[in-house]
Amino acid sequence: MSWEDNVRRVTPYVPGEQPGDSERVIKLNTNEMPYPPSPKVDMALKAYDAAALRLYPAADVAPLRDALAARYGFSADEVFVGVGSDDVLSMAFLTFFNSDKPVIFPDITYSFYDVWADVYRIKYEIKPLDKDFRIVKSDYMCENGGIVIANPNAPTGISQAEDISFIEDIVSANPQSVVIVDEAYVDFGGSTALGLVKKYDNILVVRTFSKSRAFAGMRIGFAIGCPKMIKYLNDVKYSVNSYTMNRPAIDLGLASLSDDEYFEKTVNAVIRTREWTKTELRSRGFAVTDSKTNFVFASPSSISAKELFEKLRERGIYVRWWDKDRLRDWLRISVGTDEEMKVLIENIDTITASKG
Ligand code: PMP
Repeated sequence: MSWEDNVRRVTPYVPGEQPGDSERVIKLNTNEMPYPPSPKVDMALKAYDAAALRLYPAADVAPLRDALAARYGFSADEVFVGVGSDDVLSMAFLTFFNSDKPVIFPDITYSFYDVWADVYRIKYEIKPLDKDFRIVKSDYMCENGGIVIANPNAPTGISQAEDISFIEDIVSANPQSVVIVDEAYVDFGGSTALGLVKKYDNILVVRTFSKSRAFAGMRIGFAIGCPKMIKYLNDVKYSVNSYTMNRPAIDLGLASLSDDEYFEKTVNAVIRTREWTKTELRSRGFAVTDSKTNFVFASPSSISAKELFEKLRERGIYVRWWDKDRLRDWLRISVGTDEEMKVLIENIDTITASKG
């Protein structure tokens, strides 16, 4: 007998590579925003008084929670804030998925869902997307212990519904379980399920500051659901770690929320660059999904995705490739600046020309 027999063993989530600051690369592998956060955030950071760090932060994250409630038209008791949406999702799994029946989610989706299910010993069942990478609604009309849907989905970029009735049908058919809708990428053109929160008590919509607000390094995520749900989430959070959100994150999150104009401007710039990139890739024979996110999902025709991934990496351009069924032929490419995407396309041309 060894202590190792008692270890909670898990296969962890593998994030995209973060090269050191000194390495000059074009980094299109973790869906970060190519633009900085709002200048108001920069000002708040420069004016930050280190003396404030002596004090614990607000355990209920009240200043940021209240500002988010006001921004999205909810009351404070309908909002939960966490350390990035990974923290929010992880707490939601721990809180709401405590059934003998399996939680269900698609085969191709955010690859953290099965990791949380494993670490928390939650049973789950995978429902394959159809051949066009779309959710098959009828798969979610069965007995289950919970449902998780990323909309738009990752890494496909596909938004399930122009019309949110697709999500509503799933939520209304499953009053016995919590439906988590992960809207990490919704600001780039998806359709939100936030409107369903007022109508149903079994939906939790999860959002992040990491992408559209250029806050991946600051770690802020939030969830919106009915007050009863948020109370349960807080009970679990306060039973694990009360002070998850640090003071600077709360203050800088507020500064970010105060600048809608900058938010719109930078999100729209990413959308324009994304559409340009899709067109360029399609004209070179790539299959490209209709991504509504800040990345494109593309499958090359004249070279394998793996080889293109490796050749781009040798040239200092980092994109994402997975050695997994149904994903092997595809690359996920985060949307950078116009200049970065031009360099990407030029490099793709050089690499594929040397093949032919
Ligand atoms: N959901 C999805 C679908 C994602 O792609 C990501 C980013 N890796 C997250 C949630 C988590 O992002 P964060 O913790 O930075 O909010």
